[in-house]
Amino acid sequence: MKITRLSVYHVDLPLEHPYWISGGRLKHEVLDATFVKMETDAGLIGWGEGTPWGHTYVPAHGPGIRAGIETMAPFVLGLDPRRVLDVERAMDLALPGHLYAKSPLDMACWDIAGQAAGLPIADLMGGGSRTPRPIASSVGARTVADTRAVIERYRQRGYVAHSVKIGGDVARDIARIRDVEAIRRDGEIVLYDVNRGWSRAQALQVISATQDLTVMFEQPCETLDDIAAISGKHAAPVSVDESLVTLQDAARIARDGLAEVFGIKLNRVGGLTKAARLRDVALAHGIDMFVMATGGTVLADTEALHLAATIPDAHCHAVWACQDMITTEIAGGRGPRNIDGHLHLPESPGLGVHPDEDALGDPVAVYS
Ligand code: MG
Repeated sequence: MKITRLSVYHVDLPLEHPYWISGGRLKHEVLDATFVKMETDAGLIGWGEGTPWGHTYVPAHGPGIRAGIETMAPFVLGLDPRRVLDVERAMDLALPGHLYAKSPLDMACWDIAGQAAGLPIADLMGGGSRTPRPIASSVGARTVADTRAVIERYRQRGYVAHSVKIGGDVARDIARIRDVEAIRRDGEIVLYDVNRGWSRAQALQVISATQDLTVMFEQPCETLDDIAAISGKHAAPVSVDESLVTLQDAARIARDGLAEVFGIKLNRVGGLTKAARLRDVALAHGIDMFVMATGGTVLADTEALHLAATIPDAHCHAVWACQDMITTEIAGGRGPRNIDGHLHLPESPGLGVHPDEDALGDPVAVYS
């Protein structure tokens, strides 16, 4: 089987509500999404999506995905999409780094490989759990009152897990954490995501002021060096997210004990092929995981769900469904959707959901 054609689509995805992270430093209103239709000489068609969380969140750039695909396409055409490692190596040779540009091509390859094998991607990767995964909300608010209101909005949609965005203002962060913990329900999963918004001193101030609550903090500081510098000075569990990009990052975090949880975002780390290695490093070191799309539609959410399903239930805390935060529907309501705050693994071969081409408009580029 050979890849014969790549069609690239660009769609802007407006968010339902304006969204702030990192203590209001970063505001997001629309996501730049790229979709890839991968055709083969066997008639199988795979789809991939790459949607960074804007261009201020981590080093990733929506237009850069399309430019990257233009560069990599000649190296990928003609390869067998079922041989995902061959495709991965070809992309890494053609364009070192730029993992976010590679993830949609990797996703389309896994979609085709699953269809060819007659298996959902998670089963093709070795076996997918059918335990529904709780969806973590993304509470991009700034004040105590806003935070309560957004959590309540998600509770009404059935959500039992919440990622509360904090960072940037010590007193306000402490107040928001204490308020959320006061209204937290039994069984609710809450993660406090700083999105790099604290200096080392700010991190230690907030963590020590809330240590009686034993809450978990995600990406408290900018770099792994910062997180390492404070790690011996507090007892709170830490999740690392933005600073977990490569296998080398995962190895360092695991070896040096810098985090108890990995936040794996598929687009940031370059897709399923590379993310599976991060999963294995985590499992080998007693590190639990959140698995998420970096942003985007039901396609990106479903990709994340397949990886989440390959993690033993006890070690996968939650996934995230960006589809509930955007106002554009590109798959006619098909694919895994929020059911009582959970996503259920699709049983159809491959990814399990494809977009309506009419909803994507004309391709912005075609390579064959
Ligand atoms: Mg995060």
